[in-house]
Amino acid sequence: MVRDEHLFPASATEHTLIGPPTYPLDRDAFRRALRTGHGRALIHARRYGLKGFEDDVLEAAIQDLRFDGQLEPSREVPIAELCAIAGIVERLLDKDPTGNDDCIEHHCEVLAQFHAEYPDRVIQVLKESMRPWPGCHSLFPVDPLLEVGGRDALLFVARRFGELLIDGSVERFDEYLFFAYEEVHGKGKAWIDLDAMAGDDPLVRACFDARRDRDQELLEMKLERDARRRAGEAAGKPEPKTRFSWPGGARPTIEQSVRDLTSGDFNYFYPWTKTSTLEERDAVEQLLQTVDDPNRIRDALRCLREHGFPNFEPGHLRFLHHENDEVRWWAGEVLANNSSPLIREEGLRRIDESEFSLGVTLLTHSALPEDTDRILSALEEPGDRDAVHDRVLALLEMAKDRPEMNPERLLQHVYEWSPCGNCRHKAVDAMKASDSLPAWIHDELQADMHAWGDS
Ligand SMILES: [Zn+2]
Repeated sequence: MVRDEHLFPASATEHTLIGPPTYPLDRDAFRRALRTGHGRALIHARRYGLKGFEDDVLEAAIQDLRFDGQLEPSREVPIAELCAIAGIVERLLDKDPTGNDDCIEHHCEVLAQFHAEYPDRVIQVLKESMRPWPGCHSLFPVDPLLEVGGRDALLFVARRFGELLIDGSVERFDEYLFFAYEEVHGKGKAWIDLDAMAGDDPLVRACFDARRDRDQELLEMKLERDARRRAGEAAGKPEPKTRFSWPGGARPTIEQSVRDLTSGDFNYFYPWTKTSTLEERDAVEQLLQTVDDPNRIRDALRCLREHGFPNFEPGHLRFLHHENDEVRWWAGEVLANNSSPLIREEGLRRIDESEFSLGVTLLTHSALPEDTDRILSALEEPGDRDAVHDRVLALLEMAKDRPEMNPERLLQHVYEWSPCGNCRHKAVDAMKASDSLPAWIHDELQADMHAWGDS
């Protein structure tokens, strides 16, 4: 298990009393803010400078420290400001982007922020960092270079992509290749500029040919879709609004759903679970009495995730002790919907035994108001970031559904200790909606790293 000790409260006081950060931040608090994206990192930097924190800022510039690089907004603007305040831009320019795709892209995006001051060096590093992106049949990272590099960068990218087309490493044009250039210069501008610069350059012409083929392919796909839709309308069967369609065209009967669950052919969990009736859930609960195969138990539990057991009885707790970990995990998710005192007891016991994620999940609907402190204390124990994230999600759920559980405290807790910026902001939105956002959080949000970039 990866432990990030400085991401967690050091004492019980820290997590029962959430309040404004103490400035100047100490190094642990600063390092934590670089990971979570709290506004306190920039506030500290602007007020006190970053002497002694230079290495931490450099790390944040060359590594993507976000919890979820796919879903959280990028942070190059605030990180670049920190680099400037720390005086480490020259050191950053000397570093070659390495690491996983998220780190390379983040590093290049930060470098691009310094293009105005160091145009030649930045463009050189960005060009050198670009490489074939095998899994995606394209080049990577392209956007930072195209955002700042102008026509010269455009030509460079097109020629590199042309090489890949000609040597066969990519099979078709990547329609997002020049996206960043057109974002800056206008739609369609990439091709106008390339046409003006390319002459007979075979590498660039290969891009034009590949793009024409791709446009044709996309057009044919669209025509086919339109024709299918029109045929359906003519036959009185308009295409459903969602992309999902039930097997056989209609919602399966209860008998069919049970048969599919028994045979392992049940593959419509999401729409079924979202729209299930009590009668259907009763049938699934009945089925759970008879199946032994862990995969079938898991699938039946998945069906009950949204609403819980329709007729909870103590025997259902047995799934929490099942030898299969998927069964145990889904059992927790299902039981989170039920409010029996037995589930509360089990949840509190799990917390006492350091199974915090499962404990908090089980308490989502079963906890009593007097359990709030005990639940929040659960976050005291360091764990890996994924486990803490699971707890944070359960706390958000509890705050949403349980007004008697002192949601303000739960939400402030999520704000302070969530490893994930998206969950921190869900807590902020919930506090704004209930008019309970403390002034210090409002102030800190002005410098929050989520405030910049695209998700
Ligand atoms: Zn999250």
